[in-house]
Order: sequence, then C-alpha cells, then structure tokens
Amino acid sequence: MYDGALGDLIEELGQLPGIGPKSAQRLAFHLLAAEKVEVERLVSALHRVKEQVRFCEVCGNVSESERCGICRDQRRSEEQICVVEEPKDVLAVERTGEFRGRYHVLGGAINPLEGIGPDDLRIRSLMTRLQSGETKEIILATDPNTEGEATATYLAMLVKPMGFKVTRLASGLPVGGDLEYADEVTLGRAFSGRRDVD
Ligand SMILES: [Zn+2]
Repeated sequence: MYDGALGDLIEELGQLPGIGPKSAQRLAFHLLAAEKVEVERLVSALHRVKEQVRFCEVCGNVSESERCGICRDQRRSEEQICVVEEPKDVLAVERTGEFRGRYHVLGGAINPLEGIGPDDLRIRSLMTRLQSGETKEIILATDPNTEGEATATYLAMLVKPMGFKVTRLASGLPVGGDLEYADEVTLGRAFSGRRDVD
C-alpha cells in the first residue's frame, strides 16, 4: 500500500510476532512522527541486543557473558533445576520469588507438527549437567499446553529412571497458554504446590 522506505518499514514490523498489518502501520507512522533521537535510541538498542546478548553456555538463558547472572550466583543452588521453554519463562518464575535454584532453558517445546523433536531442544546439555551429581530435584515448568505437556512427559521419562525427584507445576495455570501469561501470584502458587511426577 505504501512504497519505498515507509512500505519497507511496515513490512519489517509486520514480520514481528503479534504485530498484524494494522499495528505495523500504526507503529511505522509513530516512528515517522517521532523525534530523530528517539528513533536513534531504538536503532541503537536493536544493534546492542544483537551484538551483546547471547545465551548462557550452562543454562541457555539470555546473558551478556559466558554464564548468566543466575548461573554465576553462588547463593543459588544446583540442587534444584527448573526446566523452562524460553528465557522469558525464567523471568516469569523469578518474579514469583519462590525459587532459589537454577534453570535450564530448552529453547522451545516438542512439537511434531512443526517438526521440533527432542534433538532440537537443549536436552543433551541438561543430561550433561545432571551428571555433576549436585542436582536432586528437576522441576518441569514447561508451558501448560499440549506441547509443554508432551515435553514434560518426555523429560520425566528420561530423568525419572536416573533417580531424580521430578516435579511438575500444580494445576491452576491458565490452560493452553504460556507460562508468562500467568500472574506471579498464580504462578507462585503453582510453583510451591508442585507435585511429584509418577
Ligand atoms: Zn545460566
């Protein structure tokens, strides 16, 4: 509908998750009208995030160094590992204030329809991590939807025979959604009320 630079911007914005054509247009016109310095701040933030942010070599969380802040924090223990799908889920669990262990970020969930199998997730690195012998409990905090459940079931099958205590968040989370959509009180309750996986 729009040619040239404006059209390109609308198209790029429209590629972002959750941004439909109308929102893309609105954002593009907002940026067009914005102060130049404001737009430069946004451009610089985009550059910096690509240059500086990487993934923690231990847990897969976002980090600006080889190990993320949580893996470097000596006050946190490796006794409990909370397995989540995405880095944003780490933040969601952190906000509850219920957890003092460490995390393992899978980078997604098993989803046969989209061709995502166990080998596409950071499961092998979890297995390697578990060999340290420090871990006692594995908390499966994948999303409360079909893919998340399938992933939790798969992981439980894998680690339970190794003798770990395996728990899953209590029900009560909005079913079908993402962990991040749950408010911190609900998620905190689901966390403290977690149950053994049998
Ligand atoms: Zn880490």
